[in-house]
Formats: sequence, C-alpha cells, structure tokens
Amino acid sequence: MHDVVVLGAGPVGLVAAGLLGRLGRDVALVERHPNLYNLPRAGHVDHEVVRTLQLLDCTDTFLKDAIACETYTMRNGKGELLAEFPWASEGISGYPSDFMMYQPTMEDPLHSQLCDDPTVSLYRGFEIENVVPGDDFVEVHATSPAAEADEFGPARAAESIVLRARYVIAADGGRSQTREQLGIERYDLGYSEEWLNADCRRKRPVHLELDTGQWCDPERPTTVLPLGHRHRRFEWRLLPGETAEQMSDPAVAWELLARLGLTADDLSIVRQHVWNFEAKIASQWSRGRVFLAGDAAHTMPPFQGQGMCSGIRDANNLAWKLDLVLRGVSSPALLDTYQSEREPNLLAWTHLSIETGKVTSVLDPELAAARDEAFRTGNAPAMPTIPPLTGIARSQPGAGELSLQALVRRGCTEGLFDDVIGGGFTVVSTVADPASMLDPQQLAFLSSIGAHLVHVGGDVVDVEGKYAAHLAAQGWEVVVTRPDFYVFGGGSLAELPGIINELRGHIEV
Ligand SMILES: Cc1cc2nc3c(=O)[nH]c(=O)nc-3n(C[C@H](O)[C@H](O)[C@H](O)COP(=O)(O)OP(=O)(O)OC[C@H]3O[C@@H](n4cnc5c(N)ncnc54)[C@H](O)[C@@H]3O)c2cc1C
Repeated sequence: MHDVVVLGAGPVGLVAAGLLGRLGRDVALVERHPNLYNLPRAGHVDHEVVRTLQLLDCTDTFLKDAIACETYTMRNGKGELLAEFPWASEGISGYPSDFMMYQPTMEDPLHSQLCDDPTVSLYRGFEIENVVPGDDFVEVHATSPAAEADEFGPARAAESIVLRARYVIAADGGRSQTREQLGIERYDLGYSEEWLNADCRRKRPVHLELDTGQWCDPERPTTVLPLGHRHRRFEWRLLPGETAEQMSDPAVAWELLARLGLTADDLSIVRQHVWNFEAKIASQWSRGRVFLAGDAAHTMPPFQGQGMCSGIRDANNLAWKLDLVLRGVSSPALLDTYQSEREPNLLAWTHLSIETGKVTSVLDPELAAARDEAFRTGNAPAMPTIPPLTGIARSQPGAGELSLQALVRRGCTEGLFDDVIGGGFTVVSTVADPASMLDPQQLAFLSSIGAHLVHVGGDVVDVEGKYAAHLAAQGWEVVVTRPDFYVFGGGSLAELPGIINELRGHIEV
C-alpha cells in the first residue's frame, strides 16, 4: 500500500512525486515511456516554479542553461512596437520573474532526484490500464510489454502490476485516460488554433530583429523564443487552407525560417510539430481518492507560457495537503480546497492566455490595423489580472499572494530562505521570536505541521534588508506562509496568536 500513486511522469507528475517524496511519503510513479521523453513542450517558467524546483534541489543544471529574459516584445507586421513586457523584473520568489528554458534541462534533474529518493518507486515503461477505486484505497493496473535488449537496457519479459495507494494523482496529460475513465467532462472555453512549432538547436549564435516575442503579422503570426542558451523555438500560425500534414514537411519550416534570415548553417531542427492550442478545463478535479493535476485537469493556449507552470502549482497545492491528511493531522475535507483554491488562478491565466492569443494571431488585415491603432493610442483592451488565492488564507490585503524569498544568514550559512531554513509552513517575524507570543498548544500545533518559526533580524540575518522592507510595506510584524509559498496572513506580533488559531481552524478540519 503506497501513500500516493502518481500517474504520468511529465513535468507535473515528476514534481508531484518529488514533493511528496521530500515529505517522506511512500510514492509510486508510473509512466509509459521507458526513458525520459527528452523533447521540449514548455519553454517559459516563472519564479514561483523555479522556487518549487529549488525545494527539490533541482535548480543547478536548470539555471545553467535557462535564460532570464530581458523583455518580451510584440511587433506588428511592419515591425512597429505594439507592447513590451519587462521580463527582467525581480520576482518575489528570489529569482528573476521569467525564464526561457529547454525542458529536458528541468526534467533530467527531477528524474535523477526521484531515482535517488528511497521513498519513491519508479515504474517506467508501464502503460496504465485501469484505475479502480476501493473502499479506502485506489488500485492502479498497469502493464509493460516484453522488450528486446537495446541501448537502454537488457531484454524484458511482459509484466503486469497492481499498485494500491491511499490516493492517486492523475498527471497523465491532456488526453488523460484516467479522467475519461472517471467520466469527468471538460468544459471548453472555445479557443482552438493550429500552430506549427519548430524547436531548433543552435549551431552558432543567431541575431534576430526580434529575439523574444511575437510578430503579430496578419500574413503569418509568428512567435520567436530562446529555449535556454542552446536552443530556439519558432511558431507560425497555420493559415486558412493549410493542413497539419502539409506543414509537417521539413521544407515548410526551412522556408519559414529563411524568412527570418535563418538557414541550416545556423540551426538544426530538433522537432517539428503542429499543435492544436485549446482551452479545456475539467468540471471536477477529483473523484473520490483520485485527483487530476496539470494538463489532465486543464489545458490552455501557450501565449503566456503558463500551462505547465499551472500544473506545477497544482502539484504544490496538493502535496502538502495530502501529506497532512496522510499523517492524520487533517481530515480528508482539507482536500476539498484543492480545486476551489486552484481553479480561480487557473481560469485567470487561461483567460489571459486566450486574450494574448487574440492580440497575436489576428489574420484579418483590417482587424490587425484596428488592433495596431488601439495599441498606438493607448486603447488596447485591458487584460485579465491574476487574483490572490482564497481558501486557506486570511481575508486581508497581502494574504493569498506569493510570499517573499530573499537572502538570509544563520550562523555561517548564507543563502535563499528555503535553503537555509527549509520549506514548509513558516512564521516569520522581523521584530521578535514568534514563539515568544504563542502558548504551548499553539506551539504544539505548529510543530505538528512542521512549521519553522523564524526571527529574521534576530538569529537569522536579513542579508539585504528585504524582509524588513517587505513586512513594513504591508504594515506587518509577522507573516505566516504555506508550504506552497502563499501567504496565509500577517499582522502585528500581538495578533499572531489569533492568526495561528485561524490557521488551526483551517488545518485541523
Ligand atoms: C507548443 C507548446 C508550448 C508550450 N509552452 C509552455 C510554456 O512556455 N510554459 C508552460 O508553462 N507551459 C507550456 N506549454 C504547456 C505544457 O507543455 C503542458 O502544460 C505540460 O507539458 C503539462 O504537463 P503534464 O505533466 O500535466 O502532462 P504531460 O507533459 O502531457 O505528461 C503526461 C505524462 O503522462 C504519461 N501518460 C499518459 N497516459 C499514460 C498511460 N496510460 N500510461 C502511462 N503513462 C501515461 C505520458 O507519457 C506523459 O509522460 C506548452 C505546450 C505546447 C504544446
């Protein structure tokens, strides 16, 4: 009996298994590909996701190749600037706000980490056949076909396995068989566009008129992105009458690359594929003991680079809640907050992605001219904003936002907060030791959820003064944060006992 079986070792499944393993849970991860997939899908990650990778000790290889972009630029067909987004801003999580990366550089260390984690069992090369709910467990049936010896390993006989777990996280992608089996429908936000994607490896430095962003050219909407230091991505919207089959011809990609001044001397194509960008969301993100996460629960067009980031947020939201339930600290009712907390954030990113796509991919020249005029005159439509998380968060400004991670020093160790202090719940005060304000029951509760109580400015040094400035800007002396980095709430030190009692009310359900 495992604690959790994770279905699918895409980025979301890898992170979910990693986070649960880190918490000491007994996890099994089942994936049909015998080896790492080794091709990119996602290109952009934000600082929140990088902080999650940091928790899993997986940032070293990733940061060596990832690029913290300066700006994301949108130009029209004539080259006029429509919009420019500052991507070099400092993210609150301790990293630049946005990175472009080559996905295998993120997945390789995640996979290696899992291989070294004694609490995680990896079942690669297994096709998930069925997910069968039991009374207080779920059974996962999977099979592995016989395989000849090859460069990846010795010959294998066919094998069937049945895994039992208290809970299942289905991160088996947009076509999730588990979602289908559970009979969970998806609702469609009505976006559907086909784009040709060419992921390329650079042979030499390339200098493009537009390095990172979009040519919003009605004759051929085009996206140009670096994927880390060694790769680049190009995307072209299919025009009416063009088919996926036609556009999959390598000659087509080379012809389109030539229009950007690029030839086979500059790049080799790693993968050419026509994707259908759509926005579909599962009406229910769980059924019984099975939870959908990542693309299995939702897909969105990639114009904000947030599909995978959203899935990793799902994993981060679920992991600590499952841990508390499995440890008996919380009742399963805590898990009811998964969809209600995640869905508003996901919907906001999906709408923002769709609206960005509408700006980018206009094909009608008159509509494109009207769009350009709107940008020129400052009348571009307002974009949806991302709301703070509500649920296990106080109802006050600043709660439900991402918490600050900055440099601290304890003793001789200096580094980012999570590395020096550790992840999980934290109670951080800039004026005194938070423990001094709490009674034994409150301290026992905080201990049961593994919270770190920290006096930044006391025994822990606020190296750049960022904690003092951040809390002062909120008018707070203390802040309580959740393991997925979201602020539960804050206030004066005198208010802390009340804040902890409120947190207790949410956790000890
Ligand atoms: C062109 C493009 C660009 C994108 N750019 C970005 C971006 O810049 N940033 C971003 O955040 N997102 C981006 N996305 C979205 C991102 O790629 C997805 O959201 C992300 O890959 C979803 O991860 P996942 O782990 O949920 O699913 P997947 O990556 O699909 O992984 C699912 C896994 O489950 C396994 N599986 C499925 N069924 C079974 C079965 N029956 N048995 C065994 N194993 C099974 C699969 O083999 C796979 O490994 C982009 C998507 C596209 C198409």
